[in-house]
Amino acid sequence: MRFSGITPSGHAQLGNYLGAISHWAAAGGARDLYFVSDLHAMTTSHNPAGLRARTSEMLAVLIASGIAPERVFVQSDLARELGALTWLLECTCSFGEAARMIQFKEKAGGQSGVRLSLLTYPVLMAADILLLGADEVPVGEDQRQHVELARALAKRFNSTYGEVFTVPEAVLPPTGARVRDLADPARKMSKSGRDAAGVVFVLDEPDLIRRKVRRAVTDAESVPAYDPERRPGVSNLLEILAACTGTSPRDVAEAYGSYGALKEAVADAVIETLRPVREGTLALLADPAELDRIRKAGAARAAERGEHRLSSALRLIGAG
Ligand code: ATP
Ligand code: MG
Repeated sequence: MRFSGITPSGHAQLGNYLGAISHWAAAGGARDLYFVSDLHAMTTSHNPAGLRARTSEMLAVLIASGIAPERVFVQSDLARELGALTWLLECTCSFGEAARMIQFKEKAGGQSGVRLSLLTYPVLMAADILLLGADEVPVGEDQRQHVELARALAKRFNSTYGEVFTVPEAVLPPTGARVRDLADPARKMSKSGRDAAGVVFVLDEPDLIRRKVRRAVTDAESVPAYDPERRPGVSNLLEILAACTGTSPRDVAEAYGSYGALKEAVADAVIETLRPVREGTLALLADPAELDRIRKAGAARAAERGEHRLSSALRLIGAG
């Protein structure tokens, strides 16, 4: 079973949709699960009301993107189970193992004032994966080391206390566009960046999307060509258009004789690709009772799927 999540550290952006969410919606595994990892959005300073709103929004985006409602849940709805399992796994993990996570080193920058959860969040991530018995975890390169930790902890727990966890494996996500920031094509598009000028959000209105695409940074040439190394801005636009229309960036390049025409086509394609997602999300957000019903059902199903592993793990380690 495949298992993946998205952290509501900001509003969902085009890269999240083209690079992850749309693939999750297309993969039809009956037991696959996707979750909004809101507990992971608390490892640095956060605003509670903002987090709660973005969590609901992200859940609605996943469903509006076509992921079946019975395959989604919100992480904090399993906070009790995950908290308990995280503790067992922290008792299986060494300090050195956690401290050598590259992301921790990068984000902590040696500061002792950082939240302890910044250090331990890969262990919570291991709990996410192991509680539900996931065997395939599609992740980007930046999360690979964390899945390796989950593997190591699963194997160690199983051999020390008894077999309970499926040993998960990181799988490469389907090759999709690596969407770059429209205002700064040297960077990838991100939901939590400081500057949102070059970020297309899934819920942006069509006019705003068009303005952002028109302002996209390109280069001094005038005819589109696909050359990601030397012409990252225009190549990014070609990749976005190709991803939205199911073609290849090189084929797309041949169809447009000017940057102006290309930008209008990109704006049209992005607007049409995101339109049903935006409309579906807004409809769900306008019906909080329905969203809440979906959320509760998802939480109950996920909790039920993890229950026996948590009780076995507690029993095997000498508790409960
Ligand atoms: P953050 O700034 O909080 O890291 P993010 O936008 O980078 O946010 P993640 O939560 O890190 O998003 O990733 C969620 C999923 O979206 C992952 O599968 C990741 O590979 C994918 N993703 C994120 N940004 C892009 C992008 N620009 N292009 C393609 N896929 C992306
Ligand atoms: Mg990221």
